[in-house]
Amino acid sequence: MKYNFYAGPAILAQEVMQEASRAVVEFNGMGFSILEISHRSKEFIAVMDEAVSLAKELLNVPEEYEVLFLAGGASLQFAMAPMNLLDASMKAAYTDTGTWASKAIKDGKLYGQVDVIACSKDANYSYIPRGYEIDPSYRFLHITSNNTIFGTQYQSFPETSVPLVSDMSSDIFSRVIDVNKFDLIYAGAQKNMGPAGTTLVIVKKSALGKVNRQIPAMMNYQNHIDSASMYNTPPVFPVYVSMLTLRWIKRNGGIAGIQKKNEAKAAALYGEIERNSLFYTPTNHEDKSKMNVCFLLHDKEKEKQFLANCKSAGCIGLEGHRSVGGFRASIYNAMTLEGVNQLIGVMQDFEKVNG
Ligand SMILES: *Cc1c(COP(=O)(O)O)cnc(C)c1O
Repeated sequence: MKYNFYAGPAILAQEVMQEASRAVVEFNGMGFSILEISHRSKEFIAVMDEAVSLAKELLNVPEEYEVLFLAGGASLQFAMAPMNLLDASMKAAYTDTGTWASKAIKDGKLYGQVDVIACSKDANYSYIPRGYEIDPSYRFLHITSNNTIFGTQYQSFPETSVPLVSDMSSDIFSRVIDVNKFDLIYAGAQKNMGPAGTTLVIVKKSALGKVNRQIPAMMNYQNHIDSASMYNTPPVFPVYVSMLTLRWIKRNGGIAGIQKKNEAKAAALYGEIERNSLFYTPTNHEDKSKMNVCFLLHDKEKEKQFLANCKSAGCIGLEGHRSVGGFRASIYNAMTLEGVNQLIGVMQDFEKVNG
């Protein structure tokens, strides 16, 4: 048995991959693979419709929002979001809580005035900033809800009248959220929803059409809304697998059910890091991510040995990002408590030998 702790592309539910693999051979009794059917076929249109309606149902998306499945990755949204929402004469606020947030800031600056109103770079992004003022005149406040690399996560969103825009690539569908606070949510599929290749966008319709610039067709949310995510050929297979994952979430108690399991997994793993004399987490206690758990050995010399032990126990993908070092256990929705317990067992055995 292998347990997949990679940060992304990342673990998907076994039953989703089994069904997806059958569809690669033959989809829906059509005599063709999902990979070779027209995106205009009624069979694929039904897939797209179901993906959109499941996303709406699971996240309780209000009427005045649209759900899109686009291509280009979350990184394209760093530009698309300000291009569509921020006129050159407007100001937007961003928080800088890590690598992805910094990239969003860099692109945001191309389209309007961007103020970085809070930043946690001073402590290698190990915490989520608090206690900063948010001027109500900002067009939006951009945040990264979960920092995949540094293992921090907003446990609650900033209290403000300013509409939020959030990159939720690594915690979408992991916990209940109130979509009403957001003008825009985007998330690349490959962390918690499906294979790489599609990006979920949830956008408030009334937030669009308020900028003066020319927007290229493929970058214009309104074009994608008007064509129901079929302005051009959509990423057919990633959308299909995402739809299967959303069905799987629904079967598993919806987001509330998944959230409970995620909380139990995170509590077990952080509990062991705290208890075990060999390990520690660099992450500020209140901001610890329930998706990406960063931890280190006090004795760096033993890192290679620990990773080797993890590997022999079937725990794969635990190398920390180079900017943090140590280890990162990504415990997305599809990771089981059994997988987390397997890793905990390796940590406990390591302490018996090295403690
Ligand atoms: C992985 C990740 C991205 C980048 O996603 P791409 O689809 O590769 O562009 C952006 N933001 C966050 C929070 C991520 O985890």
